[in-house]
Amino acid sequence: MIHYLFKIESFIPYACRKTVYDIDYNKLYEQGKRILLMDLDNTLLPYDKEYPDSELKSLFRRIKDIGFTVIIMSNNVEARVKTFAEAVECDYVYSALKPLKRGYQKALKKLVHYDHREIICIGDQLLTDVLGSSRLGLKCILVKPIMKKSEKWYTKFNRTMESQILKRLKKKYPNVYKQIIALEE
Ligand SMILES: [Mg+2]
Repeated sequence: MIHYLFKIESFIPYACRKTVYDIDYNKLYEQGKRILLMDLDNTLLPYDKEYPDSELKSLFRRIKDIGFTVIIMSNNVEARVKTFAEAVECDYVYSALKPLKRGYQKALKKLVHYDHREIICIGDQLLTDVLGSSRLGLKCILVKPIMKKSEKWYTKFNRTMESQILKRLKKKYPNVYKQIIALEE
């Protein structure tokens, strides 16, 4: 299985939060973070929604007011990613093919200036978001997936592999394991 090709350390999130609303963006800014690479599906939106609601829109306004540059980075198709990104007035990368490096490199090219230490990724999957970020030397905050029922087959496949990654984490990094599992509670 693909995840055995990677060190278990590649799957350790920077932090675990239930939702994007539970992230302390002011604190991240104080820590020197300036750029957020945000996953779309199940991180910001369930699959059955296309547009951000007013709560999500105001979260984006708040994040940008703090001073962050946000790029939506999704493995989904252009139409969906573009629709959302335009609604929250952010740049975006579609068909990112996370955990491959290409999408991240595309996102980084959109930035005039950046330092790797200023970037925080946010996503709901160990196998795409956390692994992909690690491969670029970036940190990723893991959130609980918004909705699991409508997941596409490849996401379900990833979840099966995730349970195997979790077993490996449990053995070697029980505290990290506990934090990830706590998201489900
Ligand atoms: Mg996702």
